[in-house]
Amino acid sequence: MSYKHILVAVDLTEECDPVIRRARDLAIASGATLSLVHIVEPMAMAFGGDVPMDLSQLQQQQFDQAKEKFEALKHKYLKNHDRPINLSDCHLTYGQPRQEIHNLAKTQECDLIVVGSHGRHGLALLLGSTANDVLHGAPCDVLAVRLATKH
Ligand code: AMP
Repeated sequence: MSYKHILVAVDLTEECDPVIRRARDLAIASGATLSLVHIVEPMAMAFGGDVPMDLSQLQQQQFDQAKEKFEALKHKYLKNHDRPINLSDCHLTYGQPRQEIHNLAKTQECDLIVVGSHGRHGLALLLGSTANDVLHGAPCDVLAVRLATKH
């Protein structure tokens, strides 16, 4: 069975590259469509939802910065790569990464989600990771691309 629609989730750090490259190679090998997603986490959510000040302006700045980076990433892969990626869809949305990635995988009928994973241990493992989070309850297969361990 080969994959038909691969969704690659990126955190917009320099670590996106190995994750996107792996997803691209898989997409080429299986003739799958590739879509890209980044989720901007609302600040109030990051602070536990109980912040006694107006975050809307900061929130807008955060979204604008993410959009700029996302566009640069798309451009880099669409135009400047030796083996350009044919990205069918690019999604930039607000929300909680696990929930939004799962929702998107369902609505877009993706059969593989690709994320990066740091292979954490010790305290960092207790704090959890997005890769772990995405794996639980995922509507399809999940591939965790091993990244250099963060300390
Ligand atoms: P982390 O556990 O935060 O180090 O992230 C591991 C991987 O989860 C990243 O390499 C991305 O594939 C994915 N990821 C993390 N944050 C986001 C985000 N905000 N939107 C989409 N994917 C994300």
